Amino acid sequence: MLHPEPRRIGVFGGTFDPPHIGHLVTAVNVRHELALDLVLMVVAHVPWQKEGLRDVSPSHHRLAMVQAAVRDLEGIEASALEIARGGASYTADTLAELSEQYPGAELHTVIGDDAAATLTTWSRWEEIAARSRLVVVDRPGDPVELTSEVPWLRVEVPHLEVSSTDLRARVTDGRPLDFLVPRDVRAYLREHGLYGAAVG
Ligand code: ATP
Ligand code: MG
Repeated sequence: MLHPEPRRIGVFGGTFDPPHIGHLVTAVNVRHELALDLVLMVVAHVPWQKEGLRDVSPSHHRLAMVQAAVRDLEGIEASALEIARGGASYTADTLAELSEQYPGAELHTVIGDDAAATLTTWSRWEEIAARSRLVVVDRPGDPVELTSEVPWLRVEVPHLEVSSTDLRARVTDGRPLDFLVPRDVRAYLREHGLYGAAVG
């Protein structure tokens, strides 16, 4: 259920291939700390920064997994906006679309520090900074340097050393995913044979 008229919105974009506990704990805690009405987990259609580096699962599968992951979470929603738009996914376009959809809402772009470190390589990053508050959460590992050209809002969340890259390798190797992804996400990726999972 969407909040009737969300005023404070978190925009948490990602490839989510697959979504995991690190994403979910981040979404829930950022929502709490910043008193956001809604956090949208925006599934990238074509994550252009990852193109050529590895095969990305079709966006409808990644959307279905995010939907399954947030089903029971209050105030967290999967967003198909970038998938509906098609083509390469640019956060600046997403924020422009959301400002039209939610006039007057305060948008907060939520980014893990590894991704935040590359902000100035993102397409029209100044527009992203102009349209939203930039929120950064730490991930385990060495601290990264963030551009000082924007005022970052840092939110502390539990540091969970989990990544989709590690999870894909786990599936491929047949190692367990228990507690790292919600049960329904595990069921979905098995059912669809994602990452070389044994179907069934
Ligand atoms: P991959 O290994 O395929 O890059 P990922 O685990 O980094 O996957 P992404 O879909 O790339 O997941 O990340 C989406 C967003 O979530 C990014 O802003 C990223 O920094 C953040 N994020 C990912 N994992 C965590 C985590 N464990 N804790 C906090 N933020 C995270
Ligand atoms: Mg990543």
